[in-house]
Amino acid sequence: MKTIKVNIVTPDGPVYDSEVNMVIANTSTGEIGILPGHIPMVAPLTVGAIRLKKEGTTDIVAVSGGFLEVRPDQVSILAPSAELSSTIDINRAKEAMKRAEERLNLSKQDDVDFKRAELSLKRAMNRINVNEGNI
Ligand code: ATP
Repeated sequence: MKTIKVNIVTPDGPVYDSEVNMVIANTSTGEIGILPGHIPMVAPLTVGAIRLKKEGTTDIVAVSGGFLEVRPDQVSILAPSAELSSTIDINRAKEAMKRAEERLNLSKQDDVDFKRAELSLKRAMNRINVNEGNI
C-alpha cells in the first residue's frame, strides 16, 4: 500500500512524523481525506482531530486549528498546539472545560471574553474526545 509522509509541527516543536496510508482532517470547508499523490493544496484547519491511517492502526492527533499543506508525497500541518491522543492530560482538559463553561456562564454573548472562553471550550472538548476515542 502506498504511503505519504506526514509532519505535524507546533511553535513548541514537532509532534508527529510518520509515513501513513491516509490523512483525514477537518478544514474550514469540511472534512477531507488525503491519499498519496493528492494534488497540492493549502487549507485552514478547525479545532479537531487529525486521523492518520496506517496498516492495522490509526494514530489520532488533536489540533487547535492551523494550516494543512499537501504535496503529492508529503502533508505538513502547522498548528498552534497539537497532541497525540496518548499524550493528552485528561484531567487538565476537564479542568479547562470546567473553567471555560464557568466563564461562558458569566460573560455576555458579544464579549471578547465570551469568544475566548468558547474557543477554550472547543479545545478542551476536542482533547477529551480525542483522548477518549469519541471522534
Ligand atoms: P489549558 O487551559 O489547560 O492551558 P489551553 O487550551 O489554554 O488549555 P493551549 O494554549 O491550547 O492550552 O496549549 C498550551 C500548551 O499546553 C500546548 O503545548 C498544548 O499542547 C499543551 N496542552 C494543553 N492542554 C493539554 C492537555 N490537556 N494535555 C496535554 N497537553 C496540553
